[in-house]
Amino acid sequence: MAHFVGIYSGIPDPDLDALSELAVDAAGNGRVGLWGYIDTATGKACDVRVVSGKGTVAAAGKLGGQVMGFSLAGVADGAQIQAFSGSRPYTAPLTVRRSEGPTLAQMNASRLASGDPRHVAHIDGRPVKTLALAKGFGGYQAIHQMAEVNGLAVHITGGLLSLQGAKTTAESSGASAHFTIDRDGNIAQYVALTLMANAQGPGNRNYISVEMVGKGTNTGACQLMSTRQLATLGKLWEFIYVNYPNPPWQLATVYGGDKSALTSPRVGRVSKAMAAELVSRGRAPAMAASVNECIASRGLSCHFWLDMAKKPCPGVGIMGQLPQVLGYEEVRVAGDEELRIPA
Ligand SMILES: [Zn+2]
Repeated sequence: MAHFVGIYSGIPDPDLDALSELAVDAAGNGRVGLWGYIDTATGKACDVRVVSGKGTVAAAGKLGGQVMGFSLAGVADGAQIQAFSGSRPYTAPLTVRRSEGPTLAQMNASRLASGDPRHVAHIDGRPVKTLALAKGFGGYQAIHQMAEVNGLAVHITGGLLSLQGAKTTAESSGASAHFTIDRDGNIAQYVALTLMANAQGPGNRNYISVEMVGKGTNTGACQLMSTRQLATLGKLWEFIYVNYPNPPWQLATVYGGDKSALTSPRVGRVSKAMAAELVSRGRAPAMAASVNECIASRGLSCHFWLDMAKKPCPGVGIMGQLPQVLGYEEVRVAGDEELRIPA
């Protein structure tokens, strides 16, 4: 008597590929083979129908002399299919199981493992080290995919931690960045470039994000990037610039509103002065009083310009170092010395 076989590659084997259940994709689509599909009594081909539950089955061509392939569409989880010769059952019913589809964590892990530059940054001709986050990324909505990439946003960790420690912290806090660069300039990637990290707000679909490991204080002072961090950030920025069409070789629009109430009067005042100075020197094209305008702009940016969070991240010192990533000199403004922790 006939029986169902899985179609994997080539011609199914009647014993090795015999099925006790059939797995289909999350939408209920899949394939199955019917081994011994000719009814020896009548000489006619059998057909396959869904006998319980929803879905359709259609013949999809022979595989060798003994097997007819069938394609399934929209078959419900737990539905049953069965082969018939005319109206006479020719196999026992076979239960169909829909697969769950990959979870967000599985998607991130497999995209990072691929080494594909659509998902993983390449520096010095190699994919960077990856430490796939299992949670704490993907935005807070159902859509986890990045949209158009407008640029790279720089952050500071506000504490000294290792690249592995950054993974643990992101998974427990739910705040994440695509990359972290430690004080020695080593880099790791945590979230695929095609998925959102929960940096600069609950998922930002337009900016790839990088954390610089550095100290921060309650007064809003932040540590400057070390020479090695700057060098690695420069290479990461180059990768972004080369691989995405949007970001130009410049800073994005800088936030020029006053965040004194959100941060502190000093952080608000000095950061605003820094924004104005970056524009007047031609390093940034414009200043905007709305973070949405900053998000819509393109180039190298930072957390402070892309979100209304109550923190100085990455600090006015690093804002002044961002032109160095582009090959220009550091920018300083009056009053910034009290907000800079030396590298
Ligand atoms: Zn930040």
